[in-house]
Amino acid sequence: MTRSVVTGGAGFLGSHLCEQLLADGHEVVALDNFITGSPANVEHLLEHEGFRLIRCDITEYVHVPGPVDQILHFASPASPIDYLLLPIETMKVGSIGTLHALGLAKEKGARLLLASTSETYGDPQVHPQPETYWGHVNPVGPRGVYDEAKRFAEALTMAYRRTHGVDTAIVRIFNCFGPRMRPDDGRAIPTFIRQALMGEPITVAGDGSQTRSVCYVDDLVAGLLLLLRSDLPGPVNIGNPHELSILALAEQIRALTGSSSEIAFIARPTDDPTVRQPDITLARDELGWEPKVELDEGLRRTIEWFRTQTSQARLGERP
Ligand code: UDP
Repeated sequence: MTRSVVTGGAGFLGSHLCEQLLADGHEVVALDNFITGSPANVEHLLEHEGFRLIRCDITEYVHVPGPVDQILHFASPASPIDYLLLPIETMKVGSIGTLHALGLAKEKGARLLLASTSETYGDPQVHPQPETYWGHVNPVGPRGVYDEAKRFAEALTMAYRRTHGVDTAIVRIFNCFGPRMRPDDGRAIPTFIRQALMGEPITVAGDGSQTRSVCYVDDLVAGLLLLLRSDLPGPVNIGNPHELSILALAEQIRALTGSSSEIAFIARPTDDPTVRQPDITLARDELGWEPKVELDEGLRRTIEWFRTQTSQARLGERP
């Protein structure tokens, strides 16, 4: 029996990871302080005998009794508005939280998978981005808190690997979407879906010509677990190379929801990357991984989930 610890286990990605690990027969201990994650994301797992959810802030201390084979370190505010609202928490979890997660891995002899990010590439000057690219990050801009925390986390992970021989892997996660994203997390896809379903204007930043490459969560989780179960140190990019403009994304969501929302152009956030696309050659060659779910299909599944959430919220409001 493999025992896995998932930090940020009640978050968007963390909850999908817990679900898959349990389905694969692991025992799972999920740690979360619920500042951006929510117990509701893992409520359906609570009855599973192999699952434990522990409220704790890993920037203070991490203690997990018993053996641990794998640590998936996914705790962090992860959407631009979250880390703009929680800049110090973001830096603390990326630095001190990562230190504690690595310390736990060292103590238990566990393999640690660090959730890093395409944000380590900043506003990239190399396109698409291979893992060998060192990035173009503004450390003193508002996004710097997330980008630099993750860059620090990568460096610390490599230091533990080199100095203490801890078995580590670094994944650079590109834009991902799916059920359990918070409708108010400010990211493009949940925001556009919520706006389209409510008939509100769809807020496209700038002229919408900036690009992203978005991956459906099931594909992403499959890639993460392949990396975890390999002996690669990374960094390895995991994401879908299907690149499109934010305006095209907004139009596609509007069409798929059947919404008549207008598109409203709003100010572009500071240091918003102009392009982003993963080079996934390494993941393809070394892990045999590539995404399978088409954008349309992934969006359909996500919209469906948002519809059920919206109708539940409306029901909840009734006296
Ligand atoms: N964006 C937008 N409208 C929104 C939210 C985001 O046009 O209501 C844009 C944002 O400026 C960026 C892109 O969508 O260019 C992706 O933003 P997101 O927050 O999803 O993720 P990021 O890749 O920037 O971390």
